[in-house]
Amino acid sequence: MNATGGLIARIRELERAARPLEPDSRERHALHEAVAGHAEAFLDRLSAVPAFEANAAPARDLAGHRPSEGPAALEELLDLFRRAVEDTGLKASSPGHVAYIPGGGLYASALGDYLAAVTNEYAGVRFAGPGAVEMENLLLRWMAGLAGYPAGAHGNLTSGGSIANLIAVVTAREAHGLRCADIPRAVVYLTAQAHHSLEKALRIAGLGECVRHRVAVDAGQRMVPEALQRAIADDRAAGLRPWLVLSAAGSTDVGAIDPLKRIGRITAAEGLWYHVDAAYGGFFLLCREVRERLGGLELSDSLVMDPHKSLFLPYGIGAVLVRDGEQLARAHHYHADYMQDAVANSPAADSPADLSPELSKHFRGPRLWLPLLLYGVAPFRACLEEKLCLTRYFHERVRSLGFEVGPEPELTVSTYRWLPQRGDADAFNEALVRSIQQDGRVFVSSTRIGGRYYLRLAVLGFRTHLETIDLTLEVLAEKVAKLETSGDF
Ligand SMILES: *Cc1c(COP(=O)(O)O)cnc(C)c1O
Repeated sequence: MNATGGLIARIRELERAARPLEPDSRERHALHEAVAGHAEAFLDRLSAVPAFEANAAPARDLAGHRPSEGPAALEELLDLFRRAVEDTGLKASSPGHVAYIPGGGLYASALGDYLAAVTNEYAGVRFAGPGAVEMENLLLRWMAGLAGYPAGAHGNLTSGGSIANLIAVVTAREAHGLRCADIPRAVVYLTAQAHHSLEKALRIAGLGECVRHRVAVDAGQRMVPEALQRAIADDRAAGLRPWLVLSAAGSTDVGAIDPLKRIGRITAAEGLWYHVDAAYGGFFLLCREVRERLGGLELSDSLVMDPHKSLFLPYGIGAVLVRDGEQLARAHHYHADYMQDAVANSPAADSPADLSPELSKHFRGPRLWLPLLLYGVAPFRACLEEKLCLTRYFHERVRSLGFEVGPEPELTVSTYRWLPQRGDADAFNEALVRSIQQDGRVFVSSTRIGGRYYLRLAVLGFRTHLETIDLTLEVLAEKVAKLETSGDF
């Protein structure tokens, strides 16, 4: 055998060894059936099992099955996945998840992801994936239209709200030409309600040394425009450089919507970049009663909304929109020699690679496109309105149970606390949250308002209906009675 013959033999041998990576149609069918069956079993028991499982020990079972040279049986792997992953911690897709900002997990979205992964379309550059890029841009134009942005707006489907906020902050930095020397004098305006991902974004974007000006909030935890106006004037007088306003359309803590219109008028007059974090609240634009309070969103320079929150999608999709799409491109455009043919054939800077830090990326379009077109917008609107009503219902009922309540819910977050007959209220409510989390039937969380400990109910799971809210009230009454009797807090 000559050298080439030897090489060919080796190639054939390797091809055979790699053969398991290419299952044939019969093998694919069997794999698919097993995984789909497993998913069905998960969904079947979802409403019957606890929303939270405190025992995390089974997660360690994963360590007993490290990657090795040989194969493992699919049944064994699926069983391990159930024990170690599905049955530990928080079940984000459970109806009883009424903490943080609940997750969704529309089934049609999972199927969209399946299509994206099987076809593995390249969604980074228009030349390679004209349909894929067009689909994502169409979804972004739909969101821009909801927000009232003009035709020149552009955006990017990100992995979530945090990255979307980061992209917006970087765009704002570039648009205002902030250089190193400017940073210690550049002022960022935000309230105590601002999501921590914004602080993180500033630091990652090299803006950690910017001046933060915490603007006062009203009783509903909304930014006070007069306070913002004063702060800007004071800072200018002190020789600082007012630069960026970070406002919230639905704060995570209490669902507060800042007075967007009035803030927008100030930022326009003062020449500041206006960013609205609507990761949680943005899609409530679909609901007539909230839409009005979101008026002014169209005045922002950039905004963020999270389909994996208020459109009930599985985790892994956020969106950033920039009113002047050119600014987004200017901050993220790149050139690489090895990409020259692809770039030459994608003339307009409207590919995700030109508008985000990513190049090769998850094709996120189908996970949103499929459910949105398959069902239409109407059921999404109805589901959001149902959550608004459920929250109002809970807020009323929890008040009549004797809880002290926080601000009237603007969206789908209700805050409340029990004032015990004796002892420290904060300690009591902390113990209350612990006992509910241990119980697991529903999963609630907590926050602090004005330094005081409050429980928090956030209703956003598409599987969360009236029964779960009634169950939450039942669990609350039961645990309060127990703690009052035992005094164990
Ligand atoms: C959840 C949230 C974020 C962060 O989004 P992720 O998708 O979790 O990264 C940012 N801002 C607000 C208001 C949020 O509710």
